[in-house]
Amino acid sequence: MAVISLQKCTEYDNRILKDKIMAGLGQINFDLTGLKNKRVCLKPNLLMPSNPERAVTTHPELFRAVAEIVHDYTRDIVLIESPNFFPLKSTIKKTGLAGIVNDLEIEVADITVTDTLRFSLAHRYKNIDISKAFFDVDYIINMPKLKTHGFTHYTGAVKNLFGTMPGLAKSRMHMRAPSQIEFCEFLLDLYGGLLNGFEKPKKFIHIMDAVVGMEGEGPGPSGKPKNIGAVIIGDDAVALDYIAVNLVGLNVKKVFTITEGFKRGYGVTSPDDIQLRGEPLEDMRITDFKASRSAVMGGIIWPLTSPTIKNLFVEKPVPRADDCTLCYNCMKVCPAGAITKADEAKIPRYNYRKCIRCFCCMETCPEAAIDLKKGALQWLMRT
Ligand code: SF4
Ligand code: SF4
Repeated sequence: MAVISLQKCTEYDNRILKDKIMAGLGQINFDLTGLKNKRVCLKPNLLMPSNPERAVTTHPELFRAVAEIVHDYTRDIVLIESPNFFPLKSTIKKTGLAGIVNDLEIEVADITVTDTLRFSLAHRYKNIDISKAFFDVDYIINMPKLKTHGFTHYTGAVKNLFGTMPGLAKSRMHMRAPSQIEFCEFLLDLYGGLLNGFEKPKKFIHIMDAVVGMEGEGPGPSGKPKNIGAVIIGDDAVALDYIAVNLVGLNVKKVFTITEGFKRGYGVTSPDDIQLRGEPLEDMRITDFKASRSAVMGGIIWPLTSPTIKNLFVEKPVPRADDCTLCYNCMKVCPAGAITKADEAKIPRYNYRKCIRCFCCMETCPEAAIDLKKGALQWLMRT
């Protein structure tokens, strides 16, 4: 049985956030005194340098509230996070965390040094290189942001742990696991490894920032901030994601980290094993939350091995000349090498036969200058 706490919280106010987080930790029976003199990792979502108002990253006030609570018990706190390819230092500054890191003297880990996490019961990825800094902590406090995701449909507690891998190693994983189901199976291998693969096991707490989440074409700047008014707390990432997805009315069947996550049995194995405390879900439910329009349909993804079929039936990322500044972040992050420099059209050139539809380019574009365009025969899918 996993206990998840759903707290109503409609503003990023330090005192209110701390009260809600403390209440939530109490409801899941988390003993804060266990943190005493322990080494604690704070793992926010810092996807890219982005203003907090855009809701791309974990809000700094939620980060501050958690950090201050932890700081009362230990001074051995380390921030470990890996943006896609942006420098961590400038990302921390732009996302509003730099002042908090300074005020509380939080160490910032060097995420480029890696070590191999081994988990023999993983389905496929039994050895995964993650940032070495995770190996010597006692607690990992995961602080995901509730967002839609063009590739995995939703990103929350399980997906945020993808950031344990350094920089571009993440986008390269999309080539090894190009379909949604393969990629989610990988995420679950990683989650299983984090739970079971360390010689010195870690205690996990997940504190989700759903005060303002993201709807539409998330998880990057193409998505839209959405008031949700919640902080969700638990020690089982799959259970927490199940509550979060239900809170905003996304289709759970499209979120394989939950459906397959139940089957893995690392924690809860069904919704019946989840006990919700705090606010009743019905009182907080968001009824007009917009899902991503991208390629996943009812949990089925078309065979990405066939470029022709894919180009006809799956949305493709298309840059807009009006907003594109030719920064080429999209080109740098593309794991398939499908993007090259602009020609006379003044936008990066996309080779859609190479494109695996991971949407890393959309997620990374700082100008939100990449749209989804439907495949020529996609209307047939609706029929
Ligand atoms: S990341 Fe966005 S702004 Fe930069 S080149 Fe690509 S489409 Fe243009
Ligand atoms: S073009 Fe964009 S969606 Fe296609 S593989 Fe490259 S990063 Fe992924």
